[in-house]
Amino acid sequence: MAEETIFSKIIRQEIPAKLLYQDDLVSAFRDIHPQAPTHILIVPNKVIPTVNDVTTEDEVALGRLFTVARKLAAEEGIDESGYRLVVNCNRDGGQEVFHLHMHLLGGKRIGRLVQ
Ligand code: C5P
Repeated sequence: MAEETIFSKIIRQEIPAKLLYQDDLVSAFRDIHPQAPTHILIVPNKVIPTVNDVTTEDEVALGRLFTVARKLAAEEGIDESGYRLVVNCNRDGGQEVFHLHMHLLGGKRIGRLVQ
């Protein structure tokens, strides 16, 4: 079993965080240090530390990250203007919390990472 992080406590609602979405596979909540007007984290409920730990068993949960991102982007009113989805992996990817998560960022023009 992978080690839990603060995200597991948020998913179980053991610490205060407003869940924007939750089902049997994934949860979503606002980032505490928003980098954009909309900055939401969408996470599998199961602890998957990094993308390196993903298996075929996780494909349904990981696919749902996208369908929930799409739904939340529409609810936030940023679907037409656009947004960025980011998944960081390990040190060089800038990962700080070792519970795989997708960042949904929007509400402003986000600079290009890849030229
Ligand atoms: O991708 P990375 O691991 O760097 O992102 C972790 C994100 O989790 C950060 O944006 C941080 O602000 C957020 N975070 C949070 N609530 C916590 C701890 C971290 O929203 N309690």
